[in-house]
Amino acid sequence: MSELPLTLSLVLRRASRMGGSKWVVTALREGAERRTWAQVAERALRLCGALKRLGVRPGERVATFGWNHHQHLELLLGVPQLGACVHPINVRLHPDDVVHVSREAEDAVVFVDASLTPLLAEVRARLPHVRHWVVMGEEGEVAPSFMGAPRYEELIAGEAPLEGLSEVDERTPASLCYTSGTTGRPQGVEYSHRALVLHAMGALMVDSMAVSERDVVLPLAPFFHASGWGLPYSTAFAGATLVLPGPRLDAGSVAHLIERERVTLAAAVPTVWNAFEPVLREGKHELSSLRRILCGGAPLPMRTIQRFAEHGISFLHAWGMTELAPSGTMARAREEGSPEERLAPLALQGAAVPGIELRVVDSEGRELPWDGASVGELEARGLWGASRYFKGSEGERFRAGWLRTGDVATLDAQGALRIVDRTKDLVKSGGEWISSVELENHLMAHPGVKEVAVIAVPHEHWGERPVAVVVRQPESRVSFEELVEHLRPRVARWWLPDAAHFVAELPKTATGKVDKKALRRVYARSHAT
Ligand code: AMP
Repeated sequence: MSELPLTLSLVLRRASRMGGSKWVVTALREGAERRTWAQVAERALRLCGALKRLGVRPGERVATFGWNHHQHLELLLGVPQLGACVHPINVRLHPDDVVHVSREAEDAVVFVDASLTPLLAEVRARLPHVRHWVVMGEEGEVAPSFMGAPRYEELIAGEAPLEGLSEVDERTPASLCYTSGTTGRPQGVEYSHRALVLHAMGALMVDSMAVSERDVVLPLAPFFHASGWGLPYSTAFAGATLVLPGPRLDAGSVAHLIERERVTLAAAVPTVWNAFEPVLREGKHELSSLRRILCGGAPLPMRTIQRFAEHGISFLHAWGMTELAPSGTMARAREEGSPEERLAPLALQGAAVPGIELRVVDSEGRELPWDGASVGELEARGLWGASRYFKGSEGERFRAGWLRTGDVATLDAQGALRIVDRTKDLVKSGGEWISSVELENHLMAHPGVKEVAVIAVPHEHWGERPVAVVVRQPESRVSFEELVEHLRPRVARWWLPDAAHFVAELPKTATGKVDKKALRRVYARSHAT
């Protein structure tokens, strides 16, 4: 049989041939920028010509520092065609981490959004390895030190689409994404062409994301978070319309975009959907086109699932990781039964998508039974799973071909995954584990709670005890005692938190997840005194 390599040129060719009438739409402050996929593919090849002219060689890295928009998309598609590697840097990283990842990657060129140039201006002097800076996006003031840098449109304007690209080996790194570093320094994961193509094909399967040519796909997950969950590639491969949100990710802007572009599939972490409550309540936006929401990256509260279900919108609940590019599992609602029965599968993270294998192991690395009760560390491997980190750091996370995920979980007889906690977020009280995720889910079901994080704080007698950090709903005066009463019928007595701190907002990591490391730093001390 043919040995046509699994490279992103396959994806680009398909987008350009099949996508003549399908669009890439970028939301602007006023209106939108619209191009067909064929135009996007042509521009990506002009970008290749420009990068060659700038001296970018195969194996080098081209970084991006931007929101999701069409120029950024062209970089994701174009850079790998040269055998070079695109490196989307997380724009919410601490400046020291930006310096760390860019130095480690030795980025030859950096493309930065005009509006984000002030952030890079701070660290530019610490990045002497960067040979060229290019400014993208149309919105925002360019920082003075970037005034002389060429603009993206100037760069590709006179360029002809590069022809006769030699086919790269499918194992060549196409993209470099870093983990968000919730537990330490961000770690780089190099996605090969092969992994990205297989991941894109995987996303088209009906039991996975089921991205289809008829979809209008809105990736709110930023490109620097596992390539916007691979959706730019799967949408290009499906030949579906892609809507890119730019920098405006608040519920009002997102709802407006869904309504105007008739989005059918939108993807984001739970924080985005939890914040939709006022939009759903006010009912000013017509969201009927939205058939499914792809959500993962952090625990998804049942209350959010229920609120959308009341509006006829269903969730695809996914578990994934940067190391899996990121797709690992998928849960979807049942088609029959009472409303509760239909939504029940969404409380779990679902079964591994075909191409990914999971197992749960004990502390000695022995596999535990799939009985829905045996709790251990989750390990994963598969067609788009990493086998090491970029530049080989943290080798102990990979054991005999399996990735140790750092998640504590169970698997049931049907293969459905239940994430109990992160290893580092579990509360160990009197030698027994308490799941912070489960406590949070129950607390989120209280009408007075807007957001909550449960963390472990040191305790002289018990070792650790759970403490809740709570953001109340705007009108709510809910007290710690009321929250304890709410939890009492739902969890064991020794699981009840020792205290609640009421705050205006919770700190978030660079990928929009609650930053428990930061909370532990603050509340471990205040609890002890
Ligand atoms: P990242 O590499 O930033 O995508 O983070 C991956 C981690 O996010 C996983 O190891 C889990 O701890 C967490 N995570 C991802 N999806 C889910 C989910 N659906 N429910 C709970 N935690 C999740």
